[in-house]
Amino acid sequence: MQQLTRNLFVETRMRGANHGFVVTTEGVVLIDTPHKPSDALKLKAEIAKHGPVRYILNTEPHGDHWTGNAYFDAPVIAHAGVRKRMLETNMEEHVARVAAFGPNEPALLEGYHANAPVLTFESGMTLHVGNHTFEMIHMPGHTAYQAAICIKEEGVIFTSDNVFHKCHTWLQEADPDAWLGSLQALGRLDEEVFVPGHGEVCGKSYLDEQAAFIEEWKHYVQCAIDRGMTKEEAIVRLTAMTDRYPMDIEQEGMAPLVMKRNIANLYDYLTGNWKPL
Ligand SMILES: [Zn+2]
Repeated sequence: MQQLTRNLFVETRMRGANHGFVVTTEGVVLIDTPHKPSDALKLKAEIAKHGPVRYILNTEPHGDHWTGNAYFDAPVIAHAGVRKRMLETNMEEHVARVAAFGPNEPALLEGYHANAPVLTFESGMTLHVGNHTFEMIHMPGHTAYQAAICIKEEGVIFTSDNVFHKCHTWLQEADPDAWLGSLQALGRLDEEVFVPGHGEVCGKSYLDEQAAFIEEWKHYVQCAIDRGMTKEEAIVRLTAMTDRYPMDIEQEGMAPLVMKRNIANLYDYLTGNWKPL
């Protein structure tokens, strides 16, 4: 883990989403949790040096952000849509997928019980713990239920997967226009240090590159629609985006699948057949 500021630690080099924690004067607040159970237990041991976990904040509904919640005895806070999606998850399938991440995972998943959000918000919420302020702001885009989390006293924002820093962007259920709006909203906040959903820590200057890539994706699929391609043809034939960025850690080989899912979603979006999951 990397100590990013006085009281804030982040992990950007494990499989799954980035996560971090803040050590307050009244315990620890965790932001997202590891995808692999064995990583969650390592994190738990690390956090134990700093104090009890008071709260877990989740930034979005995908399993790489919340699977590890289950290994902590603390209430979870997230957008209401995150709770809804977690409760709808087929846990048998989810556990089977995560069990395949390594030889140590199956045993740790026995009796797995997801720790879903018990406190939820729609547009935003502010949490005060000790001397720290955690401002959660709904920022739809990558999914309809993203939240940015600003930690005022540390000058840091966890952006959720609305920012993929120098690794491939997943648009499998995205609303690209809402996403572009959320990137502008991120740019208007005071904090300058961003912990993206995936990739190394970055700054505001990366927002333009992320926005340009989303625009490029939209344009790419729109051109295929304009040429009369059906959705099925587009999914098979559009492969040019595959190598634009590397995939995130331990996702090597998944690029062709992600491209197909991105194209399918954007095709629906651009032809008026889209609705949020
Ligand atoms: Zn995600």
